Amino acid sequence: MTEPVKTRRVVVVGGGVSGLSAAYTLARARQAGAPIEEVLIESNPWLGGVVRSESVEGFLVEAGPDSFLAEKPEAAAMARELGLGDDLMGSNDHARRTYILHHRRLVPLPDGLMFLVPTRIWPMVTTGLLPLSAKLKAAGEMFSSPPATEKEDESVASFVKRHFGRAMVENIADPLLAGVYGGDAEALSMRSVLPRFWEMERKHGSLTRATLEAVRHRGTDGKNSSGSAAGNPQSGKLPLFMTLKGGLQQMTQKLAAQLDKYRIFLGRKVLTLEFAPGGPGGLGDSCSRRFLINCESYKAYDADAVILALPARHASGLIAPLDHRLSGLLEGIPYSSSMTVSLGFDEKVRAALPPGFGFLVPRKEQRRMLACTFVHAKFDHRAPQGKALLRCFLGGTRDPDILSMFDEAVLEGVRRELKAILKIDAEPIFYRIHEWPDSMAQYAVGHKTRVGAIEERLHDLPGIYLAGNAYSGIGISDCIRTGRAAAEKALDQVAPGWRGTQKSEGSK
Ligand SMILES: Cc1cc2nc3c(=O)[nH]c(=O)nc-3n(C[C@H](O)[C@H](O)[C@H](O)COP(=O)(O)OP(=O)(O)OC[C@H]3O[C@@H](n4cnc5c(N)ncnc54)[C@H](O)[C@@H]3O)c2cc1C
Repeated sequence: MTEPVKTRRVVVVGGGVSGLSAAYTLARARQAGAPIEEVLIESNPWLGGVVRSESVEGFLVEAGPDSFLAEKPEAAAMARELGLGDDLMGSNDHARRTYILHHRRLVPLPDGLMFLVPTRIWPMVTTGLLPLSAKLKAAGEMFSSPPATEKEDESVASFVKRHFGRAMVENIADPLLAGVYGGDAEALSMRSVLPRFWEMERKHGSLTRATLEAVRHRGTDGKNSSGSAAGNPQSGKLPLFMTLKGGLQQMTQKLAAQLDKYRIFLGRKVLTLEFAPGGPGGLGDSCSRRFLINCESYKAYDADAVILALPARHASGLIAPLDHRLSGLLEGIPYSSSMTVSLGFDEKVRAALPPGFGFLVPRKEQRRMLACTFVHAKFDHRAPQGKALLRCFLGGTRDPDILSMFDEAVLEGVRRELKAILKIDAEPIFYRIHEWPDSMAQYAVGHKTRVGAIEERLHDLPGIYLAGNAYSGIGISDCIRTGRAAAEKALDQVAPGWRGTQKSEGSK
């Protein structure tokens, strides 16, 4: 007589897009016959983490992320899988133009700039963004590229300086990284943040030659890139960004809807994680252990596997009693805090705005704003007909103190800067301020080595898995990928061979 298969419990801690993707993957496996139950624990009374969309007076405001890069396929694939395919929409790339605030004026990024690499001569020759010396250095990069560094990693600033000079760092790379990561080119790792260019240098020497070659092969149009696609010459006809008509929260809501509501625990902060009493052997093999998850209000759950889909610092605190060294490695991943300020304006303001997706602000301009997106231009369905929606991005490593300011002072400061930069004096129809403390992981120089060490430690801690933006990409697609991968690993651990069972049953 065969023994009944025991149901194993996998607990996901953290209900942002990473944790939701993990829990969803587990739920799908359970529905397909895996002998598991999934539990999701989230400290907020809501799910979605930093993904939040809000309708205000006919405008659609994204409090956190507003889109994902189309070249990374996981987010669009997940949307389709959830039945949201018809709601996917691309950015209005025909109207794409990004400005840099340069000596208090908005100057467009030169056409053909693939993140940092110039692919067209004339726009580079005529741009007011770079001095003659930088233009000459950029032109020369094609013929006399610097030798690749022997080091394991270097900062983005150092790498870009070697290839294109300091002005390219100050006027283009640093504002792009501040606008995307809330980060600093002097601190961020080239190898982890822009791995494609790191590899290009190793293979081809000159980034310009390699990019031009790739453009020729793929036949992309090489238009002015706002940068966060890192100018991927392989992106073909895809739009640069994609989002959902009703906001990105559509996706987190759909993910949550696929889960069993009796297995979701909201408003329950996990305080500690420990090995369950009884020692190894919980799963019938000698090395696996069970875990005890203690939450606020004296609630506790036991688990055969735990997925920590949390900012690394929070995961570090929970892991400390299990593996002190691993906890230290996680603690060492820095985060930046940020703030978004969204403002709706009437038709007059919209008509007076320059065409394009918005602007970025270099450090030397000494503004609080890091970037401003003209949301109504970047995507359809974000503002009522003819009206304008501006989203300003503040904080980052450049200005962490912004989070301690009162809303009135923030609003006043933002309006003052919009007046100085865009000449907007009008009262906004509405405004919304959203704060995101310690929300964006900063991949500092050496990040890849740190992640390698984390993976090694995890290898000796079966049953514990990590997901989220701290490891191999901070975008929505990266979070979905890491959430799903963590769930697959947990399934392999607690229910090895369930897919085999499913197949043999299916073939009966
Ligand atoms: C302002 C902003 C703009 C962004 N813009 C973009 C963009 O346009 N495109 C893009 O691709 N990416 C963007 N990102 C990045 C991307 O949104 C995030 O990396 C991603 O959403 C993080 O998801 P997550 O689930 O890993 O983490 P989170 O969303 O941070 O979720 C973690 C969850 O864990 C919970 N938690 C923490 N500790 C505990 C505990 N002890 N017990 C229980 N629960 C706990 C938290 O409450 C939270 O809900 C942006 C991020 C921010 C902040």
